[in-house]
Amino acid sequence: MNHLSCPVCGKPLTQLYKLRFNVYRCNSCELLHSDAEFEHSFESDLESTSRDIGLKKLRLANFNIIIKELQKLKASKTSKLDGLEIGSGNGWWLETCRANDMICTGIEPEHIYEQYHQQNGLKVIYGFYPEVSPKKEGGYDFIIFNDVFEHIPDINELVESLRNDLADDGLLIINLPMSTGIFYRLATFQHKLGFNSNLTRMWQFNFHSPHMNYFNEQNMKLLLGKHSFDCLSVLKLNTLDFTSIRERILADKGVNKAKAAIMTTSLTVLKPVILSSEPDIKVFFFRKK
Ligand SMILES: [Zn+2]
Repeated sequence: MNHLSCPVCGKPLTQLYKLRFNVYRCNSCELLHSDAEFEHSFESDLESTSRDIGLKKLRLANFNIIIKELQKLKASKTSKLDGLEIGSGNGWWLETCRANDMICTGIEPEHIYEQYHQQNGLKVIYGFYPEVSPKKEGGYDFIIFNDVFEHIPDINELVESLRNDLADDGLLIINLPMSTGIFYRLATFQHKLGFNSNLTRMWQFNFHSPHMNYFNEQNMKLLLGKHSFDCLSVLKLNTLDFTSIRERILADKGVNKAKAAIMTTSLTVLKPVILSSEPDIKVFFFRKK
């Protein structure tokens, strides 16, 4: 892979810093790009029980925001919406779709949630998109990425496959963390002071599936615009449910209880700042031109 040019705008990339992997910045569109590698061991580093308690409430609230916008943008469609989710993880998005009378098939490389998927009657195909993806006559009404797009190495090839798999009026929905969010900026500031752990965590360089790119709103639109997609809307999603921060922090096996308590207190104190700052997660709705 060529790390010298930006995958969004093609301009040269400049090395910013090296953590476990190198991080580069495009001085033109401000994309942050890493040369991280996906480890094919398929073993999750997260404690799934703690993660479930901490994340579920927050995730479902965010999914409901996405569902409302999707229903609004697809209000003219009379039959059931039929979509594809790439990287379904636990399957909560698929459950949310069912609860809202939509069809959605999940594509997921890992098998750790397979039992949960089966017990809950969720349709998941195991493997990588687009290799295992079922083709739909006329294309899908929507394809969604929930915290997955930032992990994918070849985004240009990916977007072309998405174009082919979407219906002519199909929506591409991308929900992802932003380089302009307060957590990313705080972690960058800490890194400048010599503390690398939070920035390593933001890039998930200690996990088997690290982040390849960190986008801002402009370069996200630039990438999709290049592949002939129009941006219909961008919404802010919530990063933290302040009632379950502790469980989320504990879900990372590397964090002990004392450290989790300190982090929980700090985040609670910072709550007003976090809520009023530039959002850490946004969801984009694109449509083929
Ligand atoms: Zn660029």
